[in-house]
Amino acid sequence: TGRDSYAFFTERMDADLRGKLAMQAQLRGAILHPGRGEFAVHYQPQVCLRTGAMLGAEALLRWDNPVLGKVPPNRFIPLAEEYGLTNAIGVWVLETVCAQIRQWRDEGLGQVKVAVNLSGSQFAHDSTVPVVEGLLRRHGIAAASLGLEITEGTVMGDPDKAVEALRRLKDIGVAISLDDFGTGYSSLAYLKRFPIDVLKIDKSFVDDVTAKASDAAIALSVISLAHNLNMRVIAEGVETREQVDFLAAHGCDEMQGYYYSRPLEAAAFTTLLRHKRPL
Ligand code: C2E
Ligand code: CA
Ligand code: CA
Ligand code: CA
Repeated sequence: TGRDSYAFFTERMDADLRGKLAMQAQLRGAILHPGRGEFAVHYQPQVCLRTGAMLGAEALLRWDNPVLGKVPPNRFIPLAEEYGLTNAIGVWVLETVCAQIRQWRDEGLGQVKVAVNLSGSQFAHDSTVPVVEGLLRRHGIAAASLGLEITEGTVMGDPDKAVEALRRLKDIGVAISLDDFGTGYSSLAYLKRFPIDVLKIDKSFVDDVTAKASDAAIALSVISLAHNLNMRVIAEGVETREQVDFLAAHGCDEMQGYYYSRPLEAAAFTTLLRHKRPL
C-alpha cells in the first residue's frame, strides 16, 4: 500500500527471522549440551474411565532456556523440524523416558507405560527403529511399557517409510497411538494403512462434548469406529466432571486432561505413582 508500510513489513520480517535464528541457536546449544538440563520430560497421567485407575502417562517435552525462558513445545518443535533438529531431540526424549521407566521399575513402582510423541523427521531417519530397539535392550525394559504417538503430520512426509517403521515397532510390542484424531485431512485413510492400537479424540471435540450435539456425535462416532477396528480410544484435554461422565457413559476407554492431572515433573509423577500405582 505504499513505501511506509512496505518498510514496516520488512522490518517486522527481519525481526521475526532474527527471533527465529536466535531461538534456533539456543535450541542447538540445548541439544548439544544436554548436561545443562534445559530440557525436561513431564508426564501426564492416562486414566481408565471405567475404574479410575491410572494406566500410564504421555511424555511431554519442556524447554527452559536461560535466555528465552520457558518456550512451549508448540513453538520450538516446529522450529526444530524446520532446522532438522527434531531427530536429535526425539532421541533424547526416548532415552530419558526409557531410563525413567527403568528407574520406576527399580524403585518397585511397577512397569509404567509411557507414550512418546514422534515428529515427522524421525521417520526420515532409518535409525528410529534400531534406536528404539537398542534403548529397550540397554535399559532392560519391556516393549509393552513404551508407546509412540503419531499424527497425520508425523507420517505425511514419507508415508511408506513410516508404515514400514511402525509395523516393525508394533511387531516388537510397542503400542502406536494416532494423536489429534479427526483434525487432519485423511484420518480414515490413515486408519486403514497404519498399524494403530489407540485413537486419541482431539481436545477440540472434547471441549464442547456435553454442550454441542455435533461434537458429541463426533466423539461417539470415533469411539465406535475405534472399537469396531479393535482399537482403544483415549479422550484428550478432559477438564470437567461432566466430560468424564459423558465419555464414561459412552464407552470411551481412557482419558487424559487437567481434570485428573496436568503434566507433572518426573518427581511429582513419582509421588503420584507411590499413591496410585498404574495397572
Ligand atoms: P499433543 O501431543 O496433542 O499433547 C497434548 C497437549 O495438550 C499438551 O500440550 C498438554 O499439556 C495439553 N493438555 C493436556 N490436557 C489438557 C487439558 O485438560 N486442557 C488443556 N488446555 N491442555 C491440555 P503441550 O505439552 O504444550 O504440548 C503441545 C504439543 O507439542 C503436543 O501436542 C505435541 O504435539 C508436541 N510435543 C510435546 N512434547 C513433544 C515431544 O517430546 N516430541 C514431539 N515431537 N512433540 C512434542
Ligand atoms: Ca500427543
Ligand atoms: Ca493430541
Ligand atoms: Ca495436538
